[in-house]
Amino acid sequence: MTDAPASFDVAVVGGGPAGLAAAIALAQAGASTVLVARRAPYADNRTTALLGGSVDFLDGLGVWQDCRDKAAALRTMRLVDDTGRLIRAPEVRFQADEIGLDMFGYNIENRTLVAALESRAAACPGLTRIAEDAEAVVPDQAEVTITTVSRQSVTARLVVGADGRHSLCREAAGISVNRRKLGQTALTFNITHARPHHGASTEFHTPHGPCVFVPLPGDRCSVVWVNSPREAERLFALDDEALSVAAEKRSHSIFGRVHVEPGRHMFPLSIERPYRYADRRIALVGEAAHVVPPIGAQGLNLGLRDAMDMAAIVGKAMTSGEDLGAPQVLARYAAARRADILSRTFVIDIANRSLLSEFLPMQSLRATGMHMIGAIGPLRRLAMREGLAPSWRTDRHAS
Ligand SMILES: Cc1cc2nc3c(=O)[nH]c(=O)nc-3n(C[C@H](O)[C@H](O)[C@H](O)COP(=O)(O)OP(=O)(O)OC[C@H]3O[C@@H](n4cnc5c(N)ncnc54)[C@H](O)[C@@H]3O)c2cc1C
Repeated sequence: MTDAPASFDVAVVGGGPAGLAAAIALAQAGASTVLVARRAPYADNRTTALLGGSVDFLDGLGVWQDCRDKAAALRTMRLVDDTGRLIRAPEVRFQADEIGLDMFGYNIENRTLVAALESRAAACPGLTRIAEDAEAVVPDQAEVTITTVSRQSVTARLVVGADGRHSLCREAAGISVNRRKLGQTALTFNITHARPHHGASTEFHTPHGPCVFVPLPGDRCSVVWVNSPREAERLFALDDEALSVAAEKRSHSIFGRVHVEPGRHMFPLSIERPYRYADRRIALVGEAAHVVPPIGAQGLNLGLRDAMDMAAIVGKAMTSGEDLGAPQVLARYAAARRADILSRTFVIDIANRSLLSEFLPMQSLRATGMHMIGAIGPLRRLAMREGLAPSWRTDRHAS
């Protein structure tokens, strides 16, 4: 005779930043939660510009106090047309104080954020950890059974698939994905520099994509340099000295001398849209639910809002005694997330396409749009507010 598998209200599969945040939020909402995710040190040097309600959410999870001193405030955002084309947009400068904020948010290294989330998850009452990958996720009428690589089994009424781009949970839910490769690659690395950044993030728009310098604490920035795959590979292969020179040139020396820190990574870019966000007692969060290119710093901010909404919906369903994996609960989650995810994906896609376009009328339209945002105060303020979080969402949470 074998023991019956342990049973939980919710199982979260995947221990990236979205999964960890979702697991803590669900446990804090009162759901008995199991996190199925192996423990591994965070493996790349990406950073996240946390915008809108993301910092408040992390604060509520008891995570932000471990992050605050290691994050840099973002007070200004500059968009610079560096395409060298005949029709160019004027520089657009967004200032947080123009919309009554001290800052737009904070930039933090993902490894610092994930370490803080891991430490909070380990101390969180109501959260059990199985530090292994899931090998099988099998939904049925009343629950979902998850079997790990060492053949341990657990069951849950609801599974939260936070297992990234190649999501096993998404497959188990029978949800297929629309995937479009963009033919662009992001090269990421961090730099130290001679002149202060003054909390200003600067985005140079090139004909192959944006190159963004985002403040880190001290005289440091994280760099996300989007390029053709071939050029990204060439830059990736440079030694530190040569890449430092290339980065200084790309930044037009606004930071003075630049030194590349050890560690660099490449990310081929794509847009991925699953056809549904939930089915068969399984709901998707983070990159299992949306992949967007790193334009406007939206990816993980969306992932954190997935976690936030999921925990709020589960909390209410528990209060009213509902089955957490029931179709109406999943439908509420999908309805809460759809407009946010689709609208952000659409705007990012258009912004990227308009930058890459060789079509003169498109370049002209883009330049006009940027000019209007730069010159017309109310439009600029609207763009800033919408860039942080969708306004309908702010209203909803305020009421
Ligand atoms: C260059 C670049 C810059 C970016 N900058 C920003 C930014 O400034 N702001 C922003 O908001 N977003 C940004 N993003 C997006 C952001 O990095 C991602 O949205 C985020 O890291 C995704 O987190 P996640 O937890 O959803 O997925 P992941 O980090 O991929 O985590 C998925 C986890 O699931 C685990 N897993 C997979 N399969 C299984 C299984 N079978 N069982 C158990 N576990 C499993 C994996 O091991 C992994 O730990 C950027 C992205 C890129 C590429």
